[in-house]
Amino acid sequence: MYNMIINKAYKTELQVNNKLATYFEGCAGYARFVYNWALNYWVKEYERGDKRTGWMKLNTELTKLKEAEFKWMYDYSNWIRTYSIRNCDQAYHNFFRRVKQGKKPGFPKFKSKKRSRKTFTINGEGVKVTETKIRLPRVGWVNIKEHGYIPTNKKIVSATISESCGRWYISVVIEEEMPEAAKPEKVIGVDLGIKTLAVTSDGVFYENPKTLYKAEKRLKRLDRRLSRKQKGSKNREKAKLVRAKAYQKVARIRNHVLNEITTELAKSKSILVLEDLNVAGMQKNHHLARSISDASWSMFRSMLEYKCQWYGNELVIVNPAYTSQTCSNCGAIKSDLTLKDRTYKCECGLEIDRDLNAAINIKNRAKHAQINNACGEEGKTSRVPLAASLKQEAGCEVSNA
Ligand SMILES: [Zn+2]
Repeated sequence: MYNMIINKAYKTELQVNNKLATYFEGCAGYARFVYNWALNYWVKEYERGDKRTGWMKLNTELTKLKEAEFKWMYDYSNWIRTYSIRNCDQAYHNFFRRVKQGKKPGFPKFKSKKRSRKTFTINGEGVKVTETKIRLPRVGWVNIKEHGYIPTNKKIVSATISESCGRWYISVVIEEEMPEAAKPEKVIGVDLGIKTLAVTSDGVFYENPKTLYKAEKRLKRLDRRLSRKQKGSKNREKAKLVRAKAYQKVARIRNHVLNEITTELAKSKSILVLEDLNVAGMQKNHHLARSISDASWSMFRSMLEYKCQWYGNELVIVNPAYTSQTCSNCGAIKSDLTLKDRTYKCECGLEIDRDLNAAINIKNRAKHAQINNACGEEGKTSRVPLAASLKQEAGCEVSNA
């Protein structure tokens, strides 16, 4: 049997000086120019009712123009052009696919210098990675912030460099061979907690790191400060940028922590059981900073979904009703349980951490879920189809809003 080959993306921050930042901006500008040029070409063809020229032909066309007209393009890697045209081609394909499916089409938009994300992609050939730095063609060695994160001995497919809030990131796509899936050995229920980030039914507590707590607190403070600033004022713009940076920091820490936990869980050779988060979030969480924890929870779930695929685990999603209030020993329901009650005490004698109690209930529901599935009356419980599309690790997109 062959092992599955998958593409995995590793995203990390680059240490970039002003000179390099300027060069990267030029590269991103090149990518934007090519994208808009190709889009304009295809739009004109469309308006004339002509057949659309293929992207490879367009690429050749642009090479000729480079020699004749756009000499400045010689400053940049040809791969940027190729990937940008392909990108635009993909956007076009997606547009037609949506039209076919009768969905809201959303015609590909021209990229704006001001509003569009600064980004470009190059081929993996010529890109080299060590523990501490990365070599880019035409640039040379650049230090990376997270040492040892990107695997060093694998085939690099491509690298995408992008800017966000004045920082530059690289996402390296690497070809990896996945080992043959191991058979699940046990069932683990996971409760996404409030005080702790996650608790498993076998008693592992994943604490919220202090750094994250501090960063979130600062973000909330900046939020309040921003709301007091006058709309359209310079100070508001400044406050907006500071807030965006703080938001990024929170997202970065959170992403890192969630990646660590989900990897550990996904490698545990188990059937992992989670609550249906959308519903659970509503019930449990209305006192807290909703947006922050909701974002964490859905990210946690989607990370687990694709990592379970990588490592051959199974993920079961169960109905979240009363997982906190039910006694995991006798099944009694304590309806007056509040968020302040950290310990679950039952008349049957059980005294247990509330999140651990919930995790055990979640685990037990998976057993019922399997029985129920066999009987065809599964209620709200469902297994996540393992054929769901593979997503990219650490591909956390951060908005600048
Ligand atoms: Zn009990």
